[in-house]
Amino acid sequence: MENNFDLCVIGAGPGGYVAAIRAAQIGLKVAIIEANHLGGICLNWGCIPTKALLKCSEINHLLHDLDQYGFKAKSTEFDFNKIIKRSRDVSKKLSTGIAGLMKKNKITVIDGFAKFLSSNDISITKDNKEIDKISAKYFIIATGAKARKIPSISYDTKNIWTYREAMTPENLPKSIIIVGSGAIGVEFASFYRNMGTEVTIIEMAENILPVEDKEISQQAHKSFVNQGIKIHVNAKLKSIDNLKDKVIANIEIDNKIQQISAQKAIIAIGVEANSDNIGLENTKVQLEKSAIKTDKYLATNDSKIFAIGDVASAPWLAHKASHEGIIAAEKIASLLGKYDSKKIHPIKKENIPGCTYSYPQIASIGINEQQAKIQNLPVKIGRFPYLANGKAIASGKVEGLIKVIFHEKTGELLGAHLIGAEVTEMIQGFVIAKQAELTEEDLMHTIFPHPTMSEMMHEAVLDAYNKVIHT
Ligand SMILES: Cc1cc2nc3c(=O)[nH]c(=O)nc-3n(C[C@H](O)[C@H](O)[C@H](O)COP(=O)(O)OP(=O)(O)OC[C@H]3O[C@@H](n4cnc5c(N)ncnc54)[C@H](O)[C@@H]3O)c2cc1C
Repeated sequence: MENNFDLCVIGAGPGGYVAAIRAAQIGLKVAIIEANHLGGICLNWGCIPTKALLKCSEINHLLHDLDQYGFKAKSTEFDFNKIIKRSRDVSKKLSTGIAGLMKKNKITVIDGFAKFLSSNDISITKDNKEIDKISAKYFIIATGAKARKIPSISYDTKNIWTYREAMTPENLPKSIIIVGSGAIGVEFASFYRNMGTEVTIIEMAENILPVEDKEISQQAHKSFVNQGIKIHVNAKLKSIDNLKDKVIANIEIDNKIQQISAQKAIIAIGVEANSDNIGLENTKVQLEKSAIKTDKYLATNDSKIFAIGDVASAPWLAHKASHEGIIAAEKIASLLGKYDSKKIHPIKKENIPGCTYSYPQIASIGINEQQAKIQNLPVKIGRFPYLANGKAIASGKVEGLIKVIFHEKTGELLGAHLIGAEVTEMIQGFVIAKQAELTEEDLMHTIFPHPTMSEMMHEAVLDAYNKVIHT
């Protein structure tokens, strides 16, 4: 096999495969090494299969809400195994699609585990046997991250689950405890609750969805409680007793220990970078905790090696990984004299949106009200509730809020925080506004189609300047 490449990408998740395609488009000779499945966590165990599951739970939610639309159904049964199989099939289909894209772009795909021998060479093993060695002028590390575990807890995969087991259960559990209420924990809470499971969330911070604006977190909290989800905040998990047919979580709230039992527990307390065991000691790459240190163009401390996506720090999001992949590929192409470096834009972390596909959905970009206060920024804040929007009322989706934060003096859009139906689609309007550095004036002069939920984005902006029409 050809084993001298311009670029070798390690890991074929949304960071790695996108980087490989972009580099090949520019004309680089590219190889990509993948130890498991093309598409990485995103396509196989993350974004995509969870959205397939959430689509089914949303249908179940709707089936139990038919009356408001004038419908009646005699029976609303579901086949749980078919729901899980559908999610796995969706992942498989997309992973196969990536194989097609690699072929189309003439990228050499190698099935194996890569380890650095030096800054220019890697060894590739399969089933613990070395199958190849590869040299390349540049490398991109895109090895992703794994679920962060609590060392004192034994994960038996039967009762105590990470996201993988939570996505592929044999049966629908009657009750479940979810430790951690970031996007992953909350999405599983929403899925299981809407399928009929009793769900209890345990969160150490004072609010669920701790990175979101407090007002949005509190609305989500209220909505989840109304749906029957039990939530404990300021609650520290001390231990979990793993019994034959149930688990008992011992949690500390206000210095008192409480016990909560359920059939299963999902631990969703975040991720840590896959930076161990890949031979970084043979390179000059440096780490910060487990994440690889990079600059704004994703270059590491080793001039031949770039790192992107989950392995290169938060936010742990697929679109961040893909965007970094494009920047790194273009930067490497420019170093090889094949791309105009003036066309490359550094990553702007403040312009990365975050979405949670729970019921209701949550989406945000930029700083929240609490962060604005800490930074002492003079702000103008606008809000608009779903209750006052025609399309939301016509759709029977009146729960939600759109909140925008502007710099009082410059009119810069500092942040947007949304909760409610379709916000994961709507947020992109604010992302473009922020990227294009639009001001409140530009947004106020923008015409939004009627009737749409996006009109609430306009109204929230108008509200910040006391010009709101419909409240
Ligand atoms: C349950 C869940 C739901 C999620 N939902 C969303 C969502 O809705 N939206 C969103 O933006 N993000 C979501 N994420 C996060 C998203 O999946 C990650 O941010 C994204 O996959 C990161 O992409 P990546 O390319 O950096 O790494 P990964 O997707 O993790 O891919 C890394 C790849 O590298 C391979 N690899 C690792 N080491 C080696 C090696 N030494 N040699 C060869 N191959 C190697 C791995 O097998 C893997 O395929 C979710 C994550 C989870 C767990």
